[in-house]
Amino acid sequence: MTTASNLPHLWLPYSQMQTAPMPVEAAATSGSTITLADGRTLIDGIASWWTACHGYNHPHIRQALIQQAEAMPHVMFGGMVHQPALTLAQRLSDRLPGDLERVFFTDSGSVAMEVAAKMAIQYQLNQGREGRHKLLSFRGGYHGDTLAMMAVCDPEEGMHRLFGDALPQQIIADLPTTPETLAALEALLSKRGHEIAAIITEPLVQGAGGMLFHEPETLCHLRRLCDDHDILLVIDEIFTGFGRTGTFFACEQAGITPDIVALSKALTGGTLPLAATIARKHVFEAFLSDDPLHALMHGPTFMANPLACAVANASLDLFDQEPRLEQVRAISAQMTTELEACRSLPGVRDVRVLGAIGVVELDTLDDPEALKRAFIEKGVWVRPFRRIVYLTPAFTITPDELSTLTSSIHQVLKDHLG
Ligand SMILES: *Cc1c(COP(=O)(O)O)cnc(C)c1O
Repeated sequence: MTTASNLPHLWLPYSQMQTAPMPVEAAATSGSTITLADGRTLIDGIASWWTACHGYNHPHIRQALIQQAEAMPHVMFGGMVHQPALTLAQRLSDRLPGDLERVFFTDSGSVAMEVAAKMAIQYQLNQGREGRHKLLSFRGGYHGDTLAMMAVCDPEEGMHRLFGDALPQQIIADLPTTPETLAALEALLSKRGHEIAAIITEPLVQGAGGMLFHEPETLCHLRRLCDDHDILLVIDEIFTGFGRTGTFFACEQAGITPDIVALSKALTGGTLPLAATIARKHVFEAFLSDDPLHALMHGPTFMANPLACAVANASLDLFDQEPRLEQVRAISAQMTTELEACRSLPGVRDVRVLGAIGVVELDTLDDPEALKRAFIEKGVWVRPFRRIVYLTPAFTITPDELSTLTSSIHQVLKDHLG
């Protein structure tokens, strides 16, 4: 069998190159379909890692990209600003709850979270609260692949043991989803709250951790505990932001205002890399000082790339002009009805839907590669991981395309399980 290691030069993500099968080659995209180099077309069930919320090649986004490319593809952000970034920062702060109003642009989700962590730790220092260097995060969480973020990911998935001293030692707890876990977190904070700069969580759904859902109430508990202990609440909306859970931002469902929010994935409608870390007024104000050491020392070379900002503005136009959240509701209802058939299959542990996220959880998933191949043979792009098969389609997917996806999942699981 030819494996990924036979590819010339490329090193692929999350792959044991010696055994990973040769990847398929994509040649073109349109709407919810991906055309392969060999001419086959696949209906995309996951919108390219949850980014392509308007489908691929949306003409409004393309138009914005071309226009910006003609005017100014890139310019440094040191000592210089530009209209695409000014407009985008304004629009994000208008959309976010409360006084989340200071936007720091970066180019990937992991880096947006790194910036959030630096902001939180330095916020505490700037206030003269020494010794608050720790971050508290939750089992099942995922916040990126850089070293500092690995340390706040789920300990198993973040390979904490393997990397040992290379990772900073942070505090990992259970999400407070039950009276017991809430009491445990309260006890932990009573003891160690004075060491903690920020609590970090994904809101409503731990995505890469296996599409694990929790109630909005959990976020309310976290907000209250952070207030009680002078800890900042950092909400990682990189996966959930821009409608995926049914509201524009997931934290809206809890009615809370985090101190810092990170956005990326669907920010540009899945066309260009861009991320943002947004701070509340009081967080920003803690950096205003005569002391140069109180400044936030961070600045990616491609910070606020004008092309990326222009397409993010175009993506927000589409949320204003087209009924995206209604489409999410319709997708949610259709997935709830159609994935239900999977529940009675042997080997299926759970079927759950939140917004435009549909999940079939299995007892075990021994050979994900066999399932992936079977999905491609059915003409769909579905990527099982951990113990789950899931759908996070573009919000513009047609009901027929979505039915093809859900019935393919049912058929493939029926053929391969039990
Ligand atoms: C994808 C993701 C990240 C990391 O973003 P990258 O752009 O891949 O660095 C961080 N947090 C969450 C919740 C994500 O889903």
